[in-house]
Amino acid sequence: MTRSGSPLRRRGTGACDPWVAGALLEWFRREARELPWRRTLDPYAIWVSEIMLQQTQVKTVIPYWERWMAALPRLRDLAAARPGKVLKLWEGLGYYSRARNLQAAAREVVTRHGGEFPRSFEEVLALPGIGRYTAGAICSIAFNQPVPILDGNVIRVLARVGALRGDPRERGVNEELWSRAASLVEAAAALPPSHVPGLAGNCSALNQSLMELGALVCTPRGPVCDRCPVSARCTARELGAAEVYPEIPVRAKGIAKRVMTLVLERGGRVLVERQPAGGVNAGLWQFPSREMVAGSTPSEFLQSCHPVDPSPELRPLVTVRHSITRYRIELRAFHARVASALSGSGVPKGECREWITPRQAAGRAFSSAHARVLKAWIGKGGG
Ligand code: SF4
Repeated sequence: MTRSGSPLRRRGTGACDPWVAGALLEWFRREARELPWRRTLDPYAIWVSEIMLQQTQVKTVIPYWERWMAALPRLRDLAAARPGKVLKLWEGLGYYSRARNLQAAAREVVTRHGGEFPRSFEEVLALPGIGRYTAGAICSIAFNQPVPILDGNVIRVLARVGALRGDPRERGVNEELWSRAASLVEAAAALPPSHVPGLAGNCSALNQSLMELGALVCTPRGPVCDRCPVSARCTARELGAAEVYPEIPVRAKGIAKRVMTLVLERGGRVLVERQPAGGVNAGLWQFPSREMVAGSTPSEFLQSCHPVDPSPELRPLVTVRHSITRYRIELRAFHARVASALSGSGVPKGECREWITPRQAAGRAFSSAHARVLKAWIGKGGG
């Protein structure tokens, strides 16, 4: 039973599947947006677009995808690329494990599949960083296989059309959604070809139509039911309760965290450090940073980072607010011109730290927040 005491399922798409699938195909044939990855059937190019689109808006992804495909046009190029180059191409998109997994999977395709992207759903799913959604997207969009996809947009559409009760992250509800998505794509496969230009066939078009409908029409707030191709069969609309579905519990606010960052400049160079493997932002460059706790000050951090006498003046440079997983982070960056350190270079042994010029910095991948700090430093005449 759900929080309102109603049974989990009110009404599925069920016997309506062929009608709903046909309406979606017809709508998509007319309304599909012109997107660069819709002009190709190359599974590598489609895979890259799908990974980039996770957690990121289409308009942000377009220039990233175009740059990536120009720099690494074939899967073998990605497999052979320097990891630093891959991260640089991803710089600013966040969730950098996606880029590392892309390269790990590309290398696996080369070693285990001779460089040929596998066509079997199970083999695609076995690649690093590829889950059920991405495997379904690649197999349906590149190969027109009748396999379902389920992302936030599709969940919203399906939950509303069937007025599906319960939290979609709960196992039973989630499996029900997968099952409805599967019924629809199978129904689409049985219909006459819809001939959406450039696409592999009905399975590709159906899955993309669900995502497109969720992105453009069946939006989280203010769905435009008057323009929806399936409104005649939508139970949530009929109930006048579209925004009630899906029943996602309100999340607790993120945990606030304050971080201080030092932009130490010496002879036109700044001190940066590469994040160690296995942690957040692994392989990316950052300025020295530390969480601000009671009693800690930027001056004391400066002395531990680069012991100099007398201590130079620290000036506020920029404040950057961003979120990583459940943390809401306020990063305060301070700038100081420093002389040579009291002992050695001030670089503790074993740490990957370097003094680099702005030109060198431009060739390295920084985490999004630190890229903004770098931009602020350069903007104020740094280097
Ligand atoms: S009718 Fe409205 S609520 Fe139902 S699927 Fe369409 S846009 Fe979403």
